[in-house]
Amino acid sequence: MEQTVEEARKFNWKNWAAVRKMGHYLRPHAWGYALGVLIISLSGILTLLVTRLWGQLGGVGTSSSEDAVVESPMAALNINMHNLVEIGWLILIVLAVQAALSFGRVLLFAKMTEDMMLSMRNDAFEAIVSMPMRFFDTRSVGDLNSRVSADITAIQDVFTTTFAELLRQVIIIVGGILALLYFSVTLTLLMLATLPVMIIAAILFGRFIRMLSKRTQDQVAASNTIVQETLTGIISVKSFANEAWEVSRYLRSIKDIRSLAMRGAIWRGAFASFIILFIFGAITLVIFKGAELMMEGGLASEHFFTFLLMTGLVAGSIGGIAAQFSALQQGLGAIESLMELMDESREDVVTQTKQPYPAFQLRGEVSFENVCFHYANRADVTVLSGVNLHIEPGKRVALVGPSGAGKSTIASLLQRFHEPTGGIIKVDGRPLSEYDLTGFRKRIAFVPQEVILFGGDIRSNIAYGKTDASESEIRLAAEQANALDFIESFPNGFATVVGERGVQLSGGQRQRIAIARAILRDPDILILDEATSALDANSEKEVQIALDALMRDRSSLIIAHRLSTIKNADQIAVLSGGSILEMGTHDNLVVRSGAYKKLVENQEIDLV
Ligand code: ADP
Repeated sequence: MEQTVEEARKFNWKNWAAVRKMGHYLRPHAWGYALGVLIISLSGILTLLVTRLWGQLGGVGTSSSEDAVVESPMAALNINMHNLVEIGWLILIVLAVQAALSFGRVLLFAKMTEDMMLSMRNDAFEAIVSMPMRFFDTRSVGDLNSRVSADITAIQDVFTTTFAELLRQVIIIVGGILALLYFSVTLTLLMLATLPVMIIAAILFGRFIRMLSKRTQDQVAASNTIVQETLTGIISVKSFANEAWEVSRYLRSIKDIRSLAMRGAIWRGAFASFIILFIFGAITLVIFKGAELMMEGGLASEHFFTFLLMTGLVAGSIGGIAAQFSALQQGLGAIESLMELMDESREDVVTQTKQPYPAFQLRGEVSFENVCFHYANRADVTVLSGVNLHIEPGKRVALVGPSGAGKSTIASLLQRFHEPTGGIIKVDGRPLSEYDLTGFRKRIAFVPQEVILFGGDIRSNIAYGKTDASESEIRLAAEQANALDFIESFPNGFATVVGERGVQLSGGQRQRIAIARAILRDPDILILDEATSALDANSEKEVQIALDALMRDRSSLIIAHRLSTIKNADQIAVLSGGSILEMGTHDNLVVRSGAYKKLVENQEIDLV
């Protein structure tokens, strides 16, 4: 399977080039990021300063030396470092500055990231909608959708928080350790020898626990799939009386959840003990040694307090940095996969409403000359082998044949969803590849077998055929599609919301909406995939009237299943196993006792 269906992937240095493409999105914000780095650095230094001042507060009462006043750079500011109130004020001022800086930083990063996200989301959607059909053949649309949104969220996290946090933590760790060394080399070395090791061990431990909980989640998802499958196929479950079998299948799966969760709990418990014993143990050791040094007079009390607070700060940053690294790695992986998506080869279609494309009209003469085809993802299966088909302008050609014969493939090739692997398709005597793709498709309308309406009202669903259509054009199209009566029978008329959250239309009504959409488009070539599911006789008649209006004087390629449609066609092409066996009208094909006659006799064509 393609990468798009995988889990969010980790970054791989080999694909650094993809990440460099991200530069395109970053460049406009270069100055913003420079300012951001400056603010973060300043704010990191202020954090260290505040910690130092807190320590000073703690040491005021106990300190016996007056040296600090002289030593301290604060002396220059005329601040008495042994006066509680003065230090308090100073802390307050530093905190206020820091608060303002943090506010600015969050806003700055959010602004830059949201701008970037706007263009990335837009570009990603544009890339996806302009992918050729073969792209969608190999991917599940749901997976693609969730992958892209997960990637974008991961990238967003990196630029809104991860990057800033990482920088802040590095500054605190480096600055903090330097400051600690200044206070006491012995104590710092002791701290460095114990705490980071323990913290890193804790991180690895935490990661292992997360892996376990991920396995539990996967198992939960697998058990949900069982529920979903069972409920979706409840008819089969009931009619095969397989309730007990389903219950036992589900029970097996949820038992796995329980044992995995218990395993996770044991390790979580061990983790809690580890933290208490080793991390807190290491902290105790440092405090113990510090107190000892202080009592021996080797460490001023305010320095000892500062040391403790700063150690906490540095330890917190060491602990936090791993999470940031992992978010960064995921973000880089996401960037890589998104950039790869953007690099996939696209169709040459117009993706911006204002972008011009050549507008032209076609006479509607279609010819398939010796067309061969196999799908890219199934190269070994020949779908079409040497198809010759001709549609005169304004005429109707019905494609008939058993399922899997290649009828829909012919319709797809005519819309240039795929390129033939052999032979040529011409419209008005010109190869399809010579036409501008958007301009060409604008002259075609396709009425699918199963009409899927977009969420929204009836008006916008019809207007999909011509997005700038006027109210009266939409109405006229609905009328010609024989849909006006039922639309107006709804209290909200054209404003009736359809689709998942709206009124459920019947099959015949949906088809007439699709026909109205096609009429509004006023195409030169019409491709119709006739519905196989039978409508009741009345709806069938209504749809037929609509179809007749649509097909009048247009070149039409109809994937036909009903005898009535087939009889009305100017030509019938009988397709089987990827080649056309017979061509002719109904009357001259039934007397030939060939493939067509067999189809009719075997009732592979609906006799309505
Ligand atoms: P019909 O419309 O006559 O039922 P199709 O054109 O849908 O036939 O299919 C013809 C053959 O091509 C079938 O064997 C089918 O499995 C295969 N096929 C159709 N669509 C695809 C696709 N997107 N990818 C791979 N094979 C496909």
